[in-house]
Amino acid sequence: MSALVRLRERMEADRIAAVLVSDPVNVGWLTGFSGTFGRVIVTQADAIFVTDSRYVIQAKEEVTEMPSATFATPTDGDVFVGEQAKALGVTQLGFESATTTYSQWKRTSEKMEGVELLPIPDIFSELRMKKSDEEVAKIRVACGIADAAYDHITRMIQPGVTEMDICLDLEFFMRRQGADVAFPSIVVSGERSARPHGKPSEKKLEIGDFVTMDFGARYEGYNSDITRTVVVGEASPRHQEIYAAVLEAQLWSIDAIRAGKMARDIDAGSRAILDKFGLAKYFGHGLGHGLGRVVHDGGRLSGSSNDVISPGQIWTIEPGVYIEGLGGVRIEDDVLITEDGIEILTHSPKELTILPLA
Ligand code: ZN
Ligand code: ZN
Repeated sequence: MSALVRLRERMEADRIAAVLVSDPVNVGWLTGFSGTFGRVIVTQADAIFVTDSRYVIQAKEEVTEMPSATFATPTDGDVFVGEQAKALGVTQLGFESATTTYSQWKRTSEKMEGVELLPIPDIFSELRMKKSDEEVAKIRVACGIADAAYDHITRMIQPGVTEMDICLDLEFFMRRQGADVAFPSIVVSGERSARPHGKPSEKKLEIGDFVTMDFGARYEGYNSDITRTVVVGEASPRHQEIYAAVLEAQLWSIDAIRAGKMARDIDAGSRAILDKFGLAKYFGHGLGHGLGRVVHDGGRLSGSSNDVISPGQIWTIEPGVYIEGLGGVRIEDDVLITEDGIEILTHSPKELTILPLA
């Protein structure tokens, strides 16, 4: 079932007659368009894609499920979109309240004479949670590129190499494989690995450092997101203890996440494992998030989440322990929920790895 068909079903259920889609993430999901400016007007009977002269050729290639209308300077984009809506007999248009800024709304409202813009709830991030087979295939490729990048980077890890060197090499590798970088890579070592979202620095790796690398590839608009922590030179008993606890929590969560379960119960279970080791207090973030066109896509594995795990969703599972002055460990994989189980999409090794290999 195409994204357009699913959107129309949802519009009918929610009694939304017409929608204006502006967020590039939602426009891409709905049409396949990858440019920066696109608008889609959707009703039960019609759908039209609007873009400007920069993207006329690209739209012909990418947008195949609906007609395109294009405008060029000096025509105003909002005025043009308003005219397209009126031509379809639309006088009230639902807009994405979750991603439209106040100033965008104000400007568009002023330019679209005779068309009223009404806020609609964030139905798109809910719809995007369930992936089609084509979407899963793209995420699988993005995960494969991240795995290859990890395999590549482990050969570089040794005392004296900087966090920034590792970050740049990871990102260069992924781009060379035909992907974009999903988000600015996190590479933190030693005491700096206690910063869950630290930025790579010029710090050099030293013997006895944890090194945490959190990175992902974006392939045809779809992301992967993986974290591995390794030790440089030699692992102390404390390193081994912390790593083993995080790994146990991560493996438990992968075993526990199944269609029909509540997201918050998986999160709670992972915390209970870390609690056995007295480490739960060092796990400050949620267990994971939905993954797709956005890295932190719809869905949260956290204590406050009301999400129900369902087939077609893709989740990250990423418990972590961060101890100020000592360092941190996070292990993250991407998991597809299927009708009768799961498929793990990232395959990099996760037994405690001490680098360089002797
Ligand atoms: Zn990550
Ligand atoms: Zn993540």
